[in-house]
Amino acid sequence: MQLIQDPSVEEFRKDVRDFLTATLPDDIRQRSVDAMYVGRAMQTRWHKILLAHGWGAPSWPKEHGGTGWSLAQQYVFDHELADADAPRGLPFGIDMVGPLLFAYGTEAQRKRYLPGILSGDEWWCQGFSEPGSGSDLASLQCKAKRDGDAYVLNGTKLWQTLAMDADMMFGLFRTDGSGKKQEGITVLLVDMHSPGLTLRPITLIDGSVEVAQCFFDDVRVPAGNRVGEENKGWGCAKYLLGIERLGIAEVARSKALLRRLKRLVASQTDGGAPVLADPYVARRIADIEVDLMALEATEYRFLFDPAHGGELGPEASILKLVGTQVEQRIAEAMMEAFGPYAQPAAGGPEGTNEPPVGHPFAEPATRLYFNMRKISIYGGSNEIQRNIVSKAVLGL
Ligand SMILES: Cc1cc2nc3c(=O)[nH]c(=O)nc-3n(C[C@H](O)[C@H](O)[C@H](O)COP(=O)(O)OP(=O)(O)OC[C@H]3O[C@@H](n4cnc5c(N)ncnc54)[C@H](O)[C@@H]3O)c2cc1C
Repeated sequence: MQLIQDPSVEEFRKDVRDFLTATLPDDIRQRSVDAMYVGRAMQTRWHKILLAHGWGAPSWPKEHGGTGWSLAQQYVFDHELADADAPRGLPFGIDMVGPLLFAYGTEAQRKRYLPGILSGDEWWCQGFSEPGSGSDLASLQCKAKRDGDAYVLNGTKLWQTLAMDADMMFGLFRTDGSGKKQEGITVLLVDMHSPGLTLRPITLIDGSVEVAQCFFDDVRVPAGNRVGEENKGWGCAKYLLGIERLGIAEVARSKALLRRLKRLVASQTDGGAPVLADPYVARRIADIEVDLMALEATEYRFLFDPAHGGELGPEASILKLVGTQVEQRIAEAMMEAFGPYAQPAAGGPEGTNEPPVGHPFAEPATRLYFNMRKISIYGGSNEIQRNIVSKAVLGL
């Protein structure tokens, strides 16, 4: 299904496709098929290839080194990247810290941080959640106390994705606990190499170590690293959570994943016949595909409806909810298609010295299935998305 019919956008699509065919290195493409995250070195290498072509920051304005692309171009680019099995964009920096600094940063902060984000040489993580403060984020307790020209941080943050790879954190800290919980929160940019900051890596259910708990023990942050006003950080947080538009439904990635599943079940045999010939498997895949097409049409309608002006509002929760469900269903169907071969996942923390059992994709499929459990939790759990839909969309 190709929803954008504008000929100039079609020309752009062809340019992107040709570029990806010519420049995406095989090892990066293969790694991106095998794992959700390709690692800092590969991710940076790929980013620099895009950057050299002027495509490093699709959502940024031209004056800051971005592409200045229309929403339709960004949408097409996102879909073509997924179609080519290319890695996603650089995590956090381009799509979160950049827009945060455009909207709330000082000139000095933009000058200091934007070049490192754009070049891909400085990596960021997001310091929002804490133990007991995930869904109820505004209850966060990690403290920042003003001391002369610095803030002193004490407490802990939990579940920071890629904290081990990050040079900087953009985080929410409690600067005042006397009023309403949404008041008294401040955004600070924290150097991850600061004395007093330690990390406890966490092994996820798929064996990967993508996240960490961060402990702050008298960590000093220059007051010049505060973004926006003291105690007004909740506004910045809401702004950041609201700008996620493109890709929130993961349609492009799900389409690529579904195509891979179809290829696999057509090539796998069971009792001499292709797995796809099993009516249960065929029906299951068809069910998912129909829901994915409906999701794609819905996302397109929300994004390109002139009445929305490219802003999603609370409808984004519908896309996140259904999008994560579809993606998890594909991962589940993929693992089931391999039957018992999918069971011996070798990606645990100790690894294995045994060769893979069965089809070479069986093991990545199992890891993918386990890794995907997280997508209905992070970025606001699916229960919270349902609450938002019931209140803000349906008015219940
Ligand atoms: C792999 C992974 C990566 C993450 N990456 C980051 C990151 O980079 N940075 C960051 O800051 N955070 C990150 N998070 C944290 C994530 O945002 C939180 O885990 C999420 O918001 C849920 O919060 P919680 O874990 O505290 O669970 P809780 O809020 O304690 O929720 C527990 C359960 O109760 C349900 N629940 C809670 N409140 C309600 C309610 N009002 N109504 C109905 N049900 C409710 C939830 O849906 C959930 O099922 C990550 C989490 C994971 C798992």
